[in-house]
Amino acid sequence: MSDCKTPDNCRIRRSILSTTCMYFPPVYDGHGNNLNPDRNISSYTEHCLVCGKMWRVMEQFGVADRQLVSDKTGEQTNEQ
Ligand SMILES: [Zn+2]
Repeated sequence: MSDCKTPDNCRIRRSILSTTCMYFPPVYDGHGNNLNPDRNISSYTEHCLVCGKMWRVMEQFGVADRQLVSDKTGEQTNEQ
């Protein structure tokens, strides 16, 4: 597997693990600010088909918290 030199080269496939799917009816103040934002949390894994990196992502309020889980897939970390 080749290493992606920049994130531009990554081809990332996303697999949804779970999502809390609740409806938050928007409540706006007089300025149009949403006081009741969508509080659903989505968690998914992202796997780059090119370099094999894998991330675990938690997303809430449209902000994704991305953690690198593994640099390469198919490689065992335990040495023999
Ligand atoms: Zn990549």
